[in-house]
Amino acid sequence: MTKITNNLLDQINSLYPDISIIKGDVFYWSPSDQIVYYSELNNEVDQWSLLHEVGHAISEHRNFKSDFDLLLIEVEAWEQAKKISDRLSISIDEDHIQDCLDTYRDWLYLRSTCPTCTNTSLQIDSRTYSCINCNQSWNVTQSRQKRCYRKKVPAKTL
Ligand SMILES: [Zn+2]
Ligand SMILES: [Zn+2]
Repeated sequence: MTKITNNLLDQINSLYPDISIIKGDVFYWSPSDQIVYYSELNNEVDQWSLLHEVGHAISEHRNFKSDFDLLLIEVEAWEQAKKISDRLSISIDEDHIQDCLDTYRDWLYLRSTCPTCTNTSLQIDSRTYSCINCNQSWNVTQSRQKRCYRKKVPAKTL
């Protein structure tokens, strides 16, 4: 582990002693384990990703009710990440945040557009949408693991 990695983890730990942060395969907040996992901390984007997941933890995000809720949760996690970054004197690139949120918006748009008439439709449950215009229903895959971390922002070595 690099010194920078230790510093950031120490800093987060002293600000939020109740949040456990453990190395894992991907950046991920597990509400059931109450643990933030990170895969690596080699550059700025990794740091932002970690702060984002800590943002989920601080917001106590648990069960996602709908795709739209997921987008709201993503926005909230980034808001928290920005607050943490201010306290740690890290600046998160706003373009990176918007790129990440755009992938969710695009994904939400694709899922909610009726395949028959292209009307924007309502989500019935976690796997089903239904079109009020033409009554077409369709299934979508589980949304939980949809993530964005490295899009568009070139990795900068610290
Ligand atoms: Zn997130
Ligand atoms: Zn339709």
